[in-house]
Amino acid sequence: MVEKVPAAVKMGPNETVYREFDMPDIGDDAAIIKVEIAGICGSDVKNYGKKIENVIMGHENVGVVYKASKKWSDRKGVKEGDRVLLEHYLPCMKCEWCHQGEYRHCKETDWHTNPNAIRYGYTSADLAPHLWGGFAHYVYAPWNAVVHKVPDSVTAELAGIATPMSNGVQWALFEAGVGFGSTVLIQGPGQQGLAQIIACKAAGAEVVIITGTTKDKRRLEVAKAFGADVVIDVMQQDPLEEILKATGGKGVDFSIDCTAGAGTAPMLLGIAALKRKAGKLVIQGNEMPTFPDFPIYKVTQKYASLVSARGHSYKACELALRLLASHKYPVEQALTHIFGLDQVDWALKSVGNKGAADVIHVSVNPWLSGQPN
Ligand SMILES: [Zn+2]
Ligand SMILES: [Zn+2]
Repeated sequence: MVEKVPAAVKMGPNETVYREFDMPDIGDDAAIIKVEIAGICGSDVKNYGKKIENVIMGHENVGVVYKASKKWSDRKGVKEGDRVLLEHYLPCMKCEWCHQGEYRHCKETDWHTNPNAIRYGYTSADLAPHLWGGFAHYVYAPWNAVVHKVPDSVTAELAGIATPMSNGVQWALFEAGVGFGSTVLIQGPGQQGLAQIIACKAAGAEVVIITGTTKDKRRLEVAKAFGADVVIDVMQQDPLEEILKATGGKGVDFSIDCTAGAGTAPMLLGIAALKRKAGKLVIQGNEMPTFPDFPIYKVTQKYASLVSARGHSYKACELALRLLASHKYPVEQALTHIFGLDQVDWALKSVGNKGAADVIHVSVNPWLSGQPN
């Protein structure tokens, strides 16, 4: 019987300490998930630098149901021993959004407007039973945890990229409406941009164009392997010229920003690259609270729509897992680094481009220790 749970805990800005927590009691309606892989995304790097204290980070979690009450198993349709993808939302399960599987919109999960929102990887370990993050051997899964059974042919490592993949499905296909014959510009070849390529190609997009900079050489190679039709190094080439060339002078139907706040230039390029009328611009504004001189007249002249990208729905996660289970795309090429629990600090720095080289998708396997692979 395991009594203590080791965890990497974020303290001050960019500081990790190690603590042990008591293994929680599951009572009659909860479970304990044994963490196999906790993926890291760009938002973790930003949060790591903030003043938030005493947080077990890790919100893209895959693991095996270690212990579950009967009620919980019946409710979730998974049993002890099953591998699951655990969404980071802990929703109310009562509101209109929860009934649609849109847990990201539930008030109970909204980190930005609700200080009491519990989310894996964000919530203080002060709150009992403490295990709210994937950088630990186990996480606690209460009655309202959202789990997806991982298909048998998908390893824990592969499932570790399911979260960015589900964002790809959500943003490109559900929010924007990319489909058969679409032309798409994706800016930024990080894990998020690369996942959009797969979602777009799986949906039948005709031309997928991705941009990056010279330091993204490896990522742009992976983009090609994932099916991108055109890759553009914006430092070596004129991106607008290349985009027009690739679309017969028309511009793209969809422009998706995955540059994570690289400034206003990608947004301006995104607008310029849209087709003459009725294109769609998918934006993420978290990193850019203001946009002085935003050319709203260009957006209206082009009769373009702005679409917000934020998180993913239940259905997007299910489809992401199916995409991974199809093994049609060499997704493994994006899985560049897996670090142990004792290297969480280095893992986070690596995602922030201040650690290991040639990083695309980085995960923590909390059961490993020692040198990175
Ligand atoms: Zn994330
Ligand atoms: Zn709700």
